[in-house]
Amino acid sequence: MEMTFLGGASEVGGSSTLLKVAGRYLLIDGGMRPAARDGQSRIPELSLLAATPPEALLITHAHIDHTGALPLIASIYPHIPIYVTESTRVLTEILLRDAVRIMKQEGLHPDGETPLYNKDQVDALLSRMRPIGFRQSFTPIASAPEIRVHYLPAGHILGAGILYFDTPEGSLLHTGDISVTDQRSIQGLDLSSLPHADIMICEGTYGNRNHSNRRKEERTFAEAVQQTLMRNGRVLCPAFAVGRAQEIVLILKSYRSSGLIPPVPIYLDGMVRSVCLAYQHQIHDLHPNVQRYIKNARRPLFVDPDLHIFAVRSQERAALIASKQPAIIISSSGMLSGGASPLYAATIAKREQDALLLTGYQDEESPGAALLHARRGHPVQIGSQTVQLACKVEKYNLAGHADSKQISQVVTKVAPHVLILVHGAPDALAALEQRFRDLRVEIPVVGSKLTFVQPSSRHFSPSPQEQAVVPSADDASSLDMPVLTAQTSAPAIISLWMLAKKLGPLRFWSVVELGQAYYGVAYRPSLRPVIEQLFKYDTSAYFKRSRIGSQSIYQPCETVMGRSLISDEEILAIQLAAPLSPPGPSATNPCAGAVAIVQGQKNSVPYLALILSSTYNSRIHMVTDSWKAAPRSLSLLQLLPDVQRYEWLGLPDETIQVRLKQWRQALNQVWVDLFSWWRRCHAQSFSFASLCQDLNLCLEDERLAWGLELLLHGSLLFRRDGETWLPLAEERVYRDAGFAQHLRLLDAGKDSAVLVNNRSGWLTGRSNWRLFEVRWHELETATAQPAQIRASSIHLID
Ligand SMILES: [Zn+2]
Ligand SMILES: [Zn+2]
Repeated sequence: MEMTFLGGASEVGGSSTLLKVAGRYLLIDGGMRPAARDGQSRIPELSLLAATPPEALLITHAHIDHTGALPLIASIYPHIPIYVTESTRVLTEILLRDAVRIMKQEGLHPDGETPLYNKDQVDALLSRMRPIGFRQSFTPIASAPEIRVHYLPAGHILGAGILYFDTPEGSLLHTGDISVTDQRSIQGLDLSSLPHADIMICEGTYGNRNHSNRRKEERTFAEAVQQTLMRNGRVLCPAFAVGRAQEIVLILKSYRSSGLIPPVPIYLDGMVRSVCLAYQHQIHDLHPNVQRYIKNARRPLFVDPDLHIFAVRSQERAALIASKQPAIIISSSGMLSGGASPLYAATIAKREQDALLLTGYQDEESPGAALLHARRGHPVQIGSQTVQLACKVEKYNLAGHADSKQISQVVTKVAPHVLILVHGAPDALAALEQRFRDLRVEIPVVGSKLTFVQPSSRHFSPSPQEQAVVPSADDASSLDMPVLTAQTSAPAIISLWMLAKKLGPLRFWSVVELGQAYYGVAYRPSLRPVIEQLFKYDTSAYFKRSRIGSQSIYQPCETVMGRSLISDEEILAIQLAAPLSPPGPSATNPCAGAVAIVQGQKNSVPYLALILSSTYNSRIHMVTDSWKAAPRSLSLLQLLPDVQRYEWLGLPDETIQVRLKQWRQALNQVWVDLFSWWRRCHAQSFSFASLCQDLNLCLEDERLAWGLELLLHGSLLFRRDGETWLPLAEERVYRDAGFAQHLRLLDAGKDSAVLVNNRSGWLTGRSNWRLFEVRWHELETATAQPAQIRASSIHLID
């Protein structure tokens, strides 16, 4: 096993680690250094990947120091799969869209830095993320089933995961960022759930300190808020939008209901607003106490005007800044380096009765740190303004990271043979090292590589408890690429109604709960859009819809078709009446979320399509990469390449189409050589499925590209009979004069340049007999369309 540290080693920021195991390469995280000093790169050392490109990308959690460089990395490696937990995907979307917006603004300044990536790159990244549930074992590299991974809850923020690798070279546990203490929004990591690992990579942010008692610290913070409000002051809590801001709202709500804090309005501004919404949408990953609150009180968790908690709209901000009424404002960013918080701070700092309460890490050069160090009555710089500091500035420790003692507990439980300390300042990591004198401890720096020789297999064999944690291989094989089976096909709405009636007739159900009730242990986050899709149609005959904030919840109607109970046989009969099987050549049932290749007419250009549903009026509704974005029904479904995008089902049709278009463009880069395949067939017939198997097309993109090319140009080499393709006879193919030319080019392979009219280009692997598709050297930009040239005008360059 070998690890190369691209960033986040002996520092906090830019976390990224390349793991080599069993001869394969996996990249863990791709973060940014948000507080990069002059001369320091904002991104990890990606040049270290040049010789050893990763085959899969695994993300621990959404914080920008773990995800900020991902759009860039994903566009350098456009075909590798990217794994995240479901909640991490939701949060990453918010954070990266905001990062793009900020970089664009900064790029407009004359001395500003160029943006690292754009909106399209973020879109492309998000569309490739595969959500994985906690404790769900998966194979990150399809062709390396011996490497198995699962996520364990890390406690740090919503969706944060610890990565556990089970490999032929032993086991590895990568903590990402962890919190052992219970937070209000997220349960702390469960020490008893941690398996043993041979090698452990552990964060050490607070390696040289111990936190004070969390509840005491929260109380002191609440008292500071109370005192400020009692003297008619305003409180500003600049907070990190993800994690900390949600904690502050929940702490304030709790002390308000206990009577300590008066019910003055609480305002949320900046990215905090959208992150709060995302937290509420991911109920199932929240602390059980919070889940109970949402279900029992049936109130929104954060923004709740009835409880005087408001989201500030941009047009209201100026009035709020001018108002001198007592209030609590929670806004991003946490270090006052951007966002809405400097705008509030500039006025609050000038007023003696107000207070500015910091609750997170302050970088030495941040405005937040400057405020903490400034003395009252002295000038201080906030944003573009210099103000006379009059208000109270205090800092409270509501950290979302484990402290030195807790890290020791975690390491003791995992009991590794080698401990690698990362994600911390050098002094924090050095202090931590002192706690593990009996262990081999490594503290790498950026750019360093650690190699571990595999000890005897006895030494590295997993303990029985550990095996119990990892689901069995066959149960997990479907997780890498979810395949819809009888157990995971879309339910009929009446089945959901029956279940909800049986299990909780009077209560409201979230989509995730309905999914869990229907699929049981087979439920996966990737199935959530399948249920959501059902509720896109009018389901009022079955469920009463209500809302908590922006989230829909559903209560089963008392009767359906005038009856309060329907037998299982009757449900089956109703389901059969609306058949799942579509007409058309394919024997497989396409389910909502499947990606299909369709053709309007025989021999016309094939399209890429996302199936929206196949259960209504026995028609298949789909959005394609062409035509109008509106869904349409088509019976000419051609190929189902076993590719799914369940997570797209909830998107607007136009967005789905944009994603399909982008995908189609990326597919043009895939080398497809139908001639070689024709020669390999030796007159034997084949199906599309057997072609994928024989050519070992593990990657989704390969299957799609071959499928499209087969429909587009396959008729020149094969005759199609339903599901079967029959290679044309040799005489018939060789009879053609263009064939010799063609053969020469294809034999030269994909890496040989061709010369036409003094321009050099590369064959794309597509051809329709005498015309070849070439991507020209000088035109090789993202938007350049491949051109077609005639075989006779090509010279190969050796
Ligand atoms: Zn973090
Ligand atoms: Zn971090």
